Amino acid sequence: MASENRTVLVTGGGGLVGKAVKHCIEQLGEHREGETWIFCTSKDGDLNDLESTRALFAKYKPTHVLHLAALVGGLYANMARNLDFFRVNMQINDNVLRVAHETDVNKVVSCLSSCIFPDDITYPIDETSLHMGPPHDSNFGYSYAKRMVEVLNRGYNEQHGRQFVSVIPTNVYGPNDNFHLHNSHVIPGLIHKIYLRKQDPEKYPFKVMGSGKPLRQFIFSHDLAKLMIWVVRDYFDKDPIILSVGEKAEISIRDAVKQICVGLDYPFEELEFDTSKADGQYKKTVSNEKLMKILPDFTFTPFDKAIKETCEWFVTNYDTCRK
Ligand code: NAP
Ligand code: GDP
Repeated sequence: MASENRTVLVTGGGGLVGKAVKHCIEQLGEHREGETWIFCTSKDGDLNDLESTRALFAKYKPTHVLHLAALVGGLYANMARNLDFFRVNMQINDNVLRVAHETDVNKVVSCLSSCIFPDDITYPIDETSLHMGPPHDSNFGYSYAKRMVEVLNRGYNEQHGRQFVSVIPTNVYGPNDNFHLHNSHVIPGLIHKIYLRKQDPEKYPFKVMGSGKPLRQFIFSHDLAKLMIWVVRDYFDKDPIILSVGEKAEISIRDAVKQICVGLDYPFEELEFDTSKADGQYKKTVSNEKLMKILPDFTFTPFDKAIKETCEWFVTNYDTCRK
């Protein structure tokens, strides 16, 4: 079905999720006639700055915005810089939603995260419990900033009749991730570390941080991208929606590391865990019931297949990838 003419501006278009959306639109057959997708990076405009945000919107005149830009990092980056994660994300989100309202954008889809839900909560978590208690201490800055997006959405929708909505993904991984050795999330961080150790074990010794016991629901970036494109086009609810694999697909960090070892052909038995390092939140199990009721036929890429693809992408793109 052809859409009316629309211009979708994707903020954070050069990041893990932004590049996955681009891949789906340009390579996986998700393109639709009448739609123009613009993928912008921080080089196109600093969203921390109001005037620069206004200039970006004036240049592209979007009818729709998929707002992915954020200061993002793994557990240890959050623990070290909670204030920065709060201030930067508050500023970016306020600027983007404010300018989207000023310029009459039809719809904004913003991105929250399952790690911002209350720490002390009954499982599985669903969309209704976002504000029902404090987040985990390790990432309070990022969590409160992201929770405020929902406050802004509600305000713009109630006061100005806007269609500003958010999606809530779980832990994402895939090609084009940030593979930095220290500031990254667990999957890209360990792909990089294990890759180096495989080249030269003496030069690159390391221990997997934490106990390996925490549980996570990992979603492949290409699956998440397809779901986000669907939300931009066809999700008209004002309440957020969790975008996640099911509860049965939740796995331990230890099992995720084992799968990375398979993907890189490295013996898992040679790795040790450093239990003196923080584990972060033990689990944050979410229900994807709302999503699966609307899209019962959606299938997620199996973890082993997607991890293999991510490892292969990293090895092939080692010289140029973000690290
Ligand atoms: P990412 O790879 O770090 O990408 C974020 C992008 O935001 C970067 O490409 C960056 O652009 C852009 N950005 C940051 N500050 C900016 C600024 N001041 N002005 C303009 N652009 C700016 O992160 P991601 O993993 O794709 O995350 C996308 C969204 O998903 C975020 O909202 C994140 O909170 C959410 N999310 C991520 C995960 C996860 O596991 N990764 C899980 C749940 C939710 P440059 O590269 O040009 O600097
Ligand atoms: P989280 O899901 O928001 O906590 O984000 P992460 O992707 O940072 O995952 C953190 C979990 O992976 C914790 O249990 C860490 O102890 C564990 N972990 C093990 N090694 C690493 C690593 O090299 N980097 C990161 N970020 N986490 C690691």
